[in-house]
Amino acid sequence: MIAIDKKYKVITLRNFREVDQIKTYLSEEQKKSIEVVGNVLPFKINNYVIDELIDWSNVPEDPIFQLTFPQKGMLSDFFYKTMEDALSLDLSRSDLKKIADGIRYQLNPNPSGQDKNIAKIDDKDLRGIQHKYQETALFFPSSGQTCHAYCTFCFRWSQFVGMEDLKFAMKESELMIEYFDKNPSITDVIFTGGDPMVMSTQKLASYIDPLLEKRPGNLQNIRLGTKALSYWPYKFLTDKDADDTLRLFERVIESGFHLTLMAHFNHPNELATDAVQHAIKRILSTGVQIRTQSPILNNINNDTNAWANMWREQVRLGLIPYYMFVARDTGAQDYFAIPLEKALSIYNKAYQGVSGLARTVKGPSMSTDYGKIELLGINEINNEKVFTLRFIQARNPEWVKEPFFAKYDPKAVWISDLKPAFGEEKFFFQ
Ligand SMILES: *Cc1c(COP(=O)(O)O)cnc(C)c1O
Ligand code: SF4
Repeated sequence: MIAIDKKYKVITLRNFREVDQIKTYLSEEQKKSIEVVGNVLPFKINNYVIDELIDWSNVPEDPIFQLTFPQKGMLSDFFYKTMEDALSLDLSRSDLKKIADGIRYQLNPNPSGQDKNIAKIDDKDLRGIQHKYQETALFFPSSGQTCHAYCTFCFRWSQFVGMEDLKFAMKESELMIEYFDKNPSITDVIFTGGDPMVMSTQKLASYIDPLLEKRPGNLQNIRLGTKALSYWPYKFLTDKDADDTLRLFERVIESGFHLTLMAHFNHPNELATDAVQHAIKRILSTGVQIRTQSPILNNINNDTNAWANMWREQVRLGLIPYYMFVARDTGAQDYFAIPLEKALSIYNKAYQGVSGLARTVKGPSMSTDYGKIELLGINEINNEKVFTLRFIQARNPEWVKEPFFAKYDPKAVWISDLKPAFGEEKFFFQ
């Protein structure tokens, strides 16, 4: 039975040295590297993650510690030294920010043309909507552009460190509704961020209720992309609007829409607390489904057992495994990158070890400019060793499902490392 009524406490660079576990378990050197890296990449965590998810006797290797705390290896020696030197001088905030931004701009802060898919009505940009795949639009509500804690690998990291020009967001739902009416191919909207579940339920309802009422275009499926189950399950348990959240979910279902939480879980430890298991039960009781996704990350979940256990546990709890992603080419990618060959091998072995109910998971998949590219296998064709790939999702729907081939490369970590097989100059979609 869970009765843990947690009061939300946010921990950032400003107050992390006051946290008991940090005082007890981290050396001065570790604390300093959190400061150095945390001045470049975002750092925010809360008392639930610190008290219940991190196993402090296993720090620094603990996967959730790696997931949430900046680590020295996340910056190159040169950038680390630059920031370390800057911090040792008595610089003003704005001078420090200039140095930090200088480094950030060299870490590919805007990967895979995020800004290329902005929706338009009559040539006017709708900055809060990205529309890349015909049936699905991403919606960025303006008050959902932060998270309950920050993931060290996050490809949206630049928006959390105040590089405002890269931030997408929309205040009102009216333009979204107009856009869906004008684009009948759209059946799905994904609320994303940040994390839309940081919004108050009242705010979230102010976006969702108009959809239920106006039923724009052919909208059928509403998805909420969230890591709140992992970082703050009390959102569905004991927060003061927790019950309102569940009532909102019920309203969506009763209106005949499908509602799915696209829940981000990176490691089975995030599924192990009473709080998260209880939150999952409450959500499922509303008729909402929960699908799960995660990138495969060095230092966090680079092993078969972590994945097989995570998928098995998800099925046991009533969740539907959905995507395994490859870490994007941004931020601390070098720290997290796993060769595509290794990602495939972990995916295959984990997939082979779970029941058919968990084999709903797709991947390993790279979210590229062209679409979501899945690595299917390593084959030998005409005496050439190749990666066999296909699109799961594509800008052009006709590209989906057709296998294509790249030269085998054991070091490749991302699509940009791959060359077409059979001496061809370009991939068919280029
Ligand atoms: C992954 C993704 C979607 C959703 O794709 P599904 O295959 O329908 O889950 C939508 N838009 C973008 C930009 C995406 O990356
Ligand atoms: S919760 Fe999602 S958006 Fe927020 S930091 Fe983690 S991966 Fe990024």
